[in-house]
Amino acid sequence: MQDFLMNSKSPSELYHYCSVCGSDAVNDSSKLSCTNGDCATVIYLNPSPSVQVFLINRSNQILIVKRAKDPMKGLYDLPGGFVDGDESFESALSREVHEELGISDQLEYKYLCSAPDKYYYKGINLDVVVVTFIARVSDIVIEKIDKNEISDIKWIDIDKVEIDTLAFENSRYALTQLKK
Ligand SMILES: [Zn+2]
Repeated sequence: MQDFLMNSKSPSELYHYCSVCGSDAVNDSSKLSCTNGDCATVIYLNPSPSVQVFLINRSNQILIVKRAKDPMKGLYDLPGGFVDGDESFESALSREVHEELGISDQLEYKYLCSAPDKYYYKGINLDVVVVTFIARVSDIVIEKIDKNEISDIKWIDIDKVEIDTLAFENSRYALTQLKK
């Protein structure tokens, strides 16, 4: 495991107070329970949903994107990102592929699999659950990429993806599901 992951905190180590009344709260890693009997608020520490997609072209190649920033800068990832509060998985994906790759075509997203994972952010090791979809694209041309997020893109035969070049465990799992 990388050093920065060893030194990071999980949500169960971060939150110690009730966000409604400010009293001490008991954190059992899945929920935060207020100790003030008059308040008794319970906040569930759910994972953050995020989505990603295997875009597959006519040559049966997938698009992988090189991460321009940490965590895991320089390793490959799939297009995608966190789901905003008012979004479905599909609408989050549509927004992300538009922001990251300039794709405005309406794609048909088909569910592939989901997996829990960790996402390191500013010293916090967030719990995430990543949902992976597949979308077939025929004549798509990527004309611009978001250089803040992505430093390079590559279409690659599914069988030629080197699993160690993928940044996250959930993506490596999704690749094994795609190959089935
Ligand atoms: Zn409280």
